[in-house]
Amino acid sequence: MSNILVVGGGAAGMMAAGIAAKNGHRVVLLERNDRLGRKLMITGKGRCNVTNNCNLINELIENVPVNGRFLFGAFSRFMPSDTMDFFEDAGVPLKIERGERVFPCSDKAVDIVDALVAFLKKEKVRIKKGRAVSLRCENGRVASLLCEDGEQLIFDDYILATGGKSYPATGSTGDGFVLAAQAGHTIVPPRPSLIPLTLAGDRYRQLQGLSLRNVAIQILDRQTGSCKYEDFGEMLFTHFGVSGPIILSASAHLRDIADGKYQLLIDLKPALSEEKLDARLIRETTEQHNKSMSNVMASLVPKALIPVILENASVNGEIKANQLTRQMRAEIGFALKHLAFTITGTRPIEEAIVTSGGVSVREIDPKTMRSKLCSNLYFAGELIDVDAYTGGFNLQIAFSTGYCAGSNVQ
Ligand SMILES: Cc1cc2nc3c(=O)[nH]c(=O)nc-3n(C[C@H](O)[C@H](O)[C@H](O)COP(=O)(O)OP(=O)(O)OC[C@H]3O[C@@H](n4cnc5c(N)ncnc54)[C@H](O)[C@@H]3O)c2cc1C
Repeated sequence: MSNILVVGGGAAGMMAAGIAAKNGHRVVLLERNDRLGRKLMITGKGRCNVTNNCNLINELIENVPVNGRFLFGAFSRFMPSDTMDFFEDAGVPLKIERGERVFPCSDKAVDIVDALVAFLKKEKVRIKKGRAVSLRCENGRVASLLCEDGEQLIFDDYILATGGKSYPATGSTGDGFVLAAQAGHTIVPPRPSLIPLTLAGDRYRQLQGLSLRNVAIQILDRQTGSCKYEDFGEMLFTHFGVSGPIILSASAHLRDIADGKYQLLIDLKPALSEEKLDARLIRETTEQHNKSMSNVMASLVPKALIPVILENASVNGEIKANQLTRQMRAEIGFALKHLAFTITGTRPIEEAIVTSGGVSVREIDPKTMRSKLCSNLYFAGELIDVDAYTGGFNLQIAFSTGYCAGSNVQ
């Protein structure tokens, strides 16, 4: 039996601490906040998309665009089905929604946090309030950990699970990167992922608050014209640019984002081919031949989009439908399928759903989550340089790596 210190009481740290204690170790969980799992509480808009019901390991890995293969070992040890069993056995019934996203039936993230806290209690993990500020290493081992209040903590093994740098009000301020660097680890510079995008110009401001469903987007490299990402679903315009599920997912693919490098192209009518859209326009303009084009367009797009589309098509909204030429109709059709904006960047990392970057996976043993540089140091969760798409995959990473670290401490 060893003495284990787990730093960080989020999804990864709680899982790691509980499993280590279950395996017979004496475990202390150090958390800087008064309450455990503060970030977990706000996941999935307070409903907590706790995992994804995807039980094919390759599919899981495909949903982790950065260093997915590194997680093969951790995923094999603790799959989404294990996460689901864990919570259902703990008395939290789960349900599966669109895209195989798993939520508690109660739609309450607090149930997930309570189940983890109860697990810690059952396994007799001691919770200690405090903020880790530095690590002291000697002869390839962590010798001690210093807390903000000056207390030195000496344990046999240490698990760092301090999360990333996003949503710092939850306690995840990137401290773990400093601690890992003190142990000699390379830190891949943190950057935001699953983050809203900012747009050039001010046309998007006209659309602020507009939510679009069932649209297709493409992210195009403006220099080469190549398509970096495409998706279909829901997005919205904000005071800075665009957000919503498909935009957040797109951001995970834009590692090399730079002001003006990418263009966002929105197809407002993805279900209609150009020919079908033209036929629809003919129908609408014939049926409403005495109405102005501004009015006719109301049967095709939300009100806020009408002036934007007509301006892009260089068609005066005042003209009557029966005055619309074939050329004008073609321009409107094109504008509906090619609403373009230049992307200037992302919102700051503090607003990201996940932090990309972190402790380099090259310096962590993928089977055990043990540091290759410090023999009694382990890592779990978002602190590691892995990040996934939306859909419950990021919490699954936290649970799998937490389980792996917790069951491998010696
Ligand atoms: C708004 C939002 C919604 C999200 N929704 C989902 C979702 O529905 N599904 C999903 O899969 N993922 C979601 N995520 C991502 C997911 O929450 C994270 O990937 C996951 O919580 C990471 O777990 P972690 O334990 O590694 O880190 P965290 O949950 O960030 O926990 C780290 C803990 O360490 C503590 N800590 C930090 N530094 C110190 C220190 N120096 N000393 C002591 N303690 C410290 C922090 O206070 C914190 O409690 C969401 C993220 C956000 C921001």
